[in-house]
Amino acid sequence: MRSGSSGSPTGDEAVACDDVPVKTPRCDRCSGPAVFHDKKTGRHLCREHFIADIEKRVADTIRSKNLIIPGDHVVIALSGGKDSTALLMILARLLPSWDSVRLSAVTIDEGIAGYREDTIRSADRLVMQYGLDHASISFTELFGGTLDAFLKGREPEACSVCGILRRKALNVAADRAGATKLATGHNLDDEAQSVFMNVLRGDLPRLVRDSGSDSKGRFIPRIKPLMFISEKEIAVYLMLHGAWADLPECPYAVHALRGEVRGMLASLESKYPGTMLHLMESKTRIEAQCAGRLEEEPVRHCRECGDSCSGEICQLCTLKKTLSQ
Ligand code: SF4
Ligand code: ZN
Repeated sequence: MRSGSSGSPTGDEAVACDDVPVKTPRCDRCSGPAVFHDKKTGRHLCREHFIADIEKRVADTIRSKNLIIPGDHVVIALSGGKDSTALLMILARLLPSWDSVRLSAVTIDEGIAGYREDTIRSADRLVMQYGLDHASISFTELFGGTLDAFLKGREPEACSVCGILRRKALNVAADRAGATKLATGHNLDDEAQSVFMNVLRGDLPRLVRDSGSDSKGRFIPRIKPLMFISEKEIAVYLMLHGAWADLPECPYAVHALRGEVRGMLASLESKYPGTMLHLMESKTRIEAQCAGRLEEEPVRHCRECGDSCSGEICQLCTLKKTLSQ
């Protein structure tokens, strides 16, 4: 999972001397006072049109990619951080107008002292406010210990260890909740970072493989309705709803390659607006070029736990052996 940024999300407010009148930019759609300037398109939007624009783009992503269909039970992976909070707020506003779609949430407690407690409290408040069913599951319950305990002496591996355990925990929680779709709060920045990291690692199969799709029905499909909404837009959306909270960062985030890539991409995006969208477009083009050319992984089952995997033993069982040493 991603760690959040802190401070003002809009970043570039104008500063003026007392005697110089500041001209408030006007909304391109209604001429009301603008609260957001999109550097890529040059658009200015007021509060109402900014919120409407974000919700429409999420609805368009869901429809164009067929992410949610009538009868679905969409379970949100709710960490209580910024992205999953915005995801819940947007889906809760959009879904009542859609045919027989049910919404609920699950929260994973990895056991990260000084970090997870705040976001879990925030998740609890949010589901109460929206009256949604909410299930929680902890690493201690599932794996017999906290992430903090598992990581003693191997902190630099934090995110890969956490990622493997979280993936399993989310699958178990979503399965218990009866989900047909598991919605995560990954945003445009996260997706662009993943594309860039896969390029840096030279991992073409992972670049073109959509982790959310599974034609063989081995796990509950994951959907990312915020994949074209930037981290900055999410922050502004939360602020405009009075839902912005400065939550602590995960203490292990400093060890992640993603952290470095994040800083690099954010600075490129600021200098060359549209960089992240261009990365996503490159991924789509590469996917189209590779369609049908990459060998599909054969369906195999882990010798130890029976879960589907690509080798003899799944990543989780391999990891568990090292955790118990
Ligand atoms: Fe996210 Fe890494 Fe922290 Fe896990 S350890 S919550 S993946 S930053
Ligand atoms: Zn296994």
